[in-house]
Amino acid sequence: MAEIVRVAGPVFAGPSADGGVNAGFVRTKLGALVIDAFLTREDGRDLAAVAESEAGRITATVYTHEHLDHVLGSTDFPAGGVIVSSGTARGLRRDLKRYGEELERQGLRPKLPTLIFDCRITLPWDPEVVVVELGGHAEGSTVVHVPGERVLFAGDLVFRGRPPFVGSMGPERWLAALRTLEGWDVETVIPGHGATGGRKVLTEQRVWLEDFLGRVSELRSAGTPLEKATTILAGEFGFEGRRVEGLRLGLQSRLGFGAD
Ligand SMILES: [Zn+2]
Repeated sequence: MAEIVRVAGPVFAGPSADGGVNAGFVRTKLGALVIDAFLTREDGRDLAAVAESEAGRITATVYTHEHLDHVLGSTDFPAGGVIVSSGTARGLRRDLKRYGEELERQGLRPKLPTLIFDCRITLPWDPEVVVVELGGHAEGSTVVHVPGERVLFAGDLVFRGRPPFVGSMGPERWLAALRTLEGWDVETVIPGHGATGGRKVLTEQRVWLEDFLGRVSELRSAGTPLEKATTILAGEFGFEGRRVEGLRLGLQSRLGFGAD
């Protein structure tokens, strides 16, 4: 069962039943603002049940980005608003089209955006919640900030306990996003994957990314072929199993390594 617990004041979050991905919600005077929806219907239902029992109802859901492991669990959510950045909306349209038939076969019908914003939207819902698109991990990477509680839902701009998925990254935007967030007044950070932590997790992720991109640049300058670079970086940075695929994809499509 997904384990959603209170993180601070009216902010709740936790991992899916398999521990793989996080989601949560803010209990506001207008009902729950849910942040992400997990991958599976079961996890999504667990999250919705806790949100409804704490806040009375789910008023809207924010997807922190278009990757479907944060979206598909909304299939059984009650009707309500879905708030996404313009980049997330574009990415979601693309991914739902690409995987449409497969999702249909599995009976997965995620809730679709009802409100698309550019750059930033402030929800004066008591507590106030600020949603900001920064990009970086995915085109639409978005963070959800609860300033009164100093809590940040960082989405997949932050991974803990494993290397991040880099297959759809914008390297410079990701670094810029983390540098921006390091300047915010934040005490608690809920990553897209991995344990909730203090503000230092933002710096840890930024330093990891700088090291990673530094090695990428060295290997690229040395003319290292894609497959060899993938093997070297997987070993040095701990990409394992199917995550090596995401690394190879990122190197090829985002980081200037052609196919061998
Ligand atoms: Zn992601």
